[in-house]
Amino acid sequence: MGFNVTFHLSYKFRLLFLFTFCLTVVGWATSNYFGDPVREIPKAKNLIVYFNKSAVLKKEEIVTNTASVRKAELENCPYLSPYLRGLNKLNFKPDLTLEEVRAENPNVDGGRYRPEKCKALQRVAILIPHRNRERHLMYLLEHLHPFLQRQQLEYGIYVIHQAGSKKFNRAKLLNVGYLEALKEENWDCFIFHDVDLVPENDLNLYKCEDQPKHLVVGRNSTGYRLRYKGYFGGVTALTREQFSKVNGFSNNYWGWGGEDDDLRLRVELQRMKILRPLPEVGKYTMIFHTRDRGNEVNVDRMKLLHEVARVWKTDGLTSCSYKLLSVEHNPLYINITVDFWSDP
Ligand code: BGC
Repeated sequence: MGFNVTFHLSYKFRLLFLFTFCLTVVGWATSNYFGDPVREIPKAKNLIVYFNKSAVLKKEEIVTNTASVRKAELENCPYLSPYLRGLNKLNFKPDLTLEEVRAENPNVDGGRYRPEKCKALQRVAILIPHRNRERHLMYLLEHLHPFLQRQQLEYGIYVIHQAGSKKFNRAKLLNVGYLEALKEENWDCFIFHDVDLVPENDLNLYKCEDQPKHLVVGRNSTGYRLRYKGYFGGVTALTREQFSKVNGFSNNYWGWGGEDDDLRLRVELQRMKILRPLPEVGKYTMIFHTRDRGNEVNVDRMKLLHEVARVWKTDGLTSCSYKLLSVEHNPLYINITVDFWSDP
């Protein structure tokens, strides 16, 4: 009996020991899996979500992803492009056609371009107000496209065409160009460009700086001299923010003159400074023309200039109303046609 009791006790004890041992082993083994639920389970969840996502990727998503990978992989273009040539004597062939200009620029698509081998430092919209100046426009496009490509910029050229027979309003057309261009791309920089001025030196960078920039120091027709100290016409470069800060151009300058001086006053009211390239760099050729009908000198311009400080907040981008007639993506430029119903 003594033996039996001892045997029975030791048997029970061994069973208990075995049971406890097994429990410990199972407990240890499973603790690796359930031990840290906060860390492990979401991982597994993510994995499942990821697989489900990849399984339903649509074709366009795959294309976009490849494009963004390509963009992310590209290095930034250098500040000064290696393709720049400096001062160049311009030549205007009398029998030039738009087809030839198109053939010379095979990488321009719907008026837009971006460098293939590097990521452009700025995305630049060139805005050109226009009416009845088809030949000037063709020569400008002929020179501007290769000029901008040599500068390794990502750019789009917008021509804003004023329909109807009301007086020409350069400034309002430029406001329209800014507002419409921003509908298709968040451009960093805007170049406000006359149709009859062609840059001679590709060191004149069509990029924006931390202050507004005036690019025309001189033109052939005036012996390449600055017209007057505060001159801010012809071609100017303002960032998206700088232009919005001054509320754009005034909408009230009908006919020739004054709107560029008005913009300078707006810039000065915001305590910004105007930058200019060196005279050798800021050289332009002006394609000759006589005064257009519908763009007669604006005799009210001095009166309007006295009002700038009072009205700039309510007259500009925020009050620019227009009738958009069409937006066409031509091979070499985007053509925006508008009509203005308010007459001077
Ligand atoms: C006009 C400007 C013009 C400048 C140079 C000024 O009198 O107000 O609009 O750009 O002359 O021609």
